[in-house]
Amino acid sequence: MILPPATLGMLGGGQLGRFFVLAAHEMGYKVWVLDPDQNSPAGKAADRHLCAAYEDFGALDQLAQHCAAITTEFENVPAATLDYLAKFLPVRPSADAVGICQNRVAEKMFLQGNGVPHAAFAAINSLDDLHKAPAELFPGILKVARFGYDGKGQARVASREEAIAAFQAFQQEACVLEQMLQLDYEVSVVLARDEAGNTQSFPVAENAHAKGILDVSIAPARSSSPQLRQQAQQLAEHIAAQLGYIGTLAVEFFVSHGALYVNEMAPRPHNSGHYTVDACITSQYEQQVRALCGLPLGDPRAHSAAVMVNLLGDIWYDPSQPGPDSCGAYREPDWSRLLSIPNLKLHLYGKHHARPGRKMGHFTVVDADPVKAHAVAMAARAAIG
Ligand code: ADP
Ligand code: MG
Repeated sequence: MILPPATLGMLGGGQLGRFFVLAAHEMGYKVWVLDPDQNSPAGKAADRHLCAAYEDFGALDQLAQHCAAITTEFENVPAATLDYLAKFLPVRPSADAVGICQNRVAEKMFLQGNGVPHAAFAAINSLDDLHKAPAELFPGILKVARFGYDGKGQARVASREEAIAAFQAFQQEACVLEQMLQLDYEVSVVLARDEAGNTQSFPVAENAHAKGILDVSIAPARSSSPQLRQQAQQLAEHIAAQLGYIGTLAVEFFVSHGALYVNEMAPRPHNSGHYTVDACITSQYEQQVRALCGLPLGDPRAHSAAVMVNLLGDIWYDPSQPGPDSCGAYREPDWSRLLSIPNLKLHLYGKHHARPGRKMGHFTVVDADPVKAHAVAMAARAAIG
């Protein structure tokens, strides 16, 4: 076991890394963060921020010398970085597991190979692949295989012709073409798995997206039956076991005509698991610390129902003010109304610049009564704009 006050290494400096730093600090650990952005939210909270590229071997050597173990909050860390660090110290999750989750083709092949239900798809590496793609994939979604997030690098395509145009617009980068499913709703399972294979799933969250970005998460998921929720947890646990996963893993699902389909995995804590900070005995970030350090996993049970609402940069935008681009300016929203709601927990990530669609913070409303939690969260959201 790696015990406090050991130093832990975090690859990536976004808000997920920041919550990891906060959880680790509460437990008495120190954290070093590697991220190339000098204003990274996790870097600001860390004991040390190495402001360097993920492929900077000097910085990786420093991490290897000073840290007891390494984890990540960002699936696009190069596999070579994880492999290099793994020569010197434990890296959890492994480069292999991250490598599968960071490439949509590898991810889909993994699901297919392990009998996990998923939307029909084809790997697209050339125009020829698109010409040969089965007609049943239309209407579909063309997604770049790597580096897509928050709906970026995706195009909804009604026909083969539209898919060809979209593929050309993506510079013929490797893609997957997925059949468009008719969604009843979406859910996710966040779980933690330790070295010995013990697994603890958090309550299933129901997720609503707006413009391809997570908007609201409701836990426990309200639209689904207990059987469907249990099945989602079992599928997520099966995936974690097949990946030999150690750490916190998120699995996103579609529910279509009452059946579950895995959409994608994230080898890290997840936006839809933010609610665990305020509503569960152990948060997804504390579980990441625990799995990384070889501690027994904590109890993931929720003590309250929770509704989480993302706060995007759009609400920082004030069109009535003159701004640098002469059509408006960004200003700090008035947080007083949110902060006066006693069962609302506001989390702001300390990002320097607001941009439309950028995740700047979130709030979670917790209540014994899920209907009340939802009503308070929706009223709060309306109040903030
Ligand atoms: P990201 O990496 O941006 O989260 P996703 O693959 O999860 O990308 O897609 C973002 C959202 O787009 C999904 O949560 C879902 O709402 C919608 N979507 C993606 N793929 C499909 C599909 N095959 N059928 C229906 N909706 C989809
Ligand atoms: Mg997604």
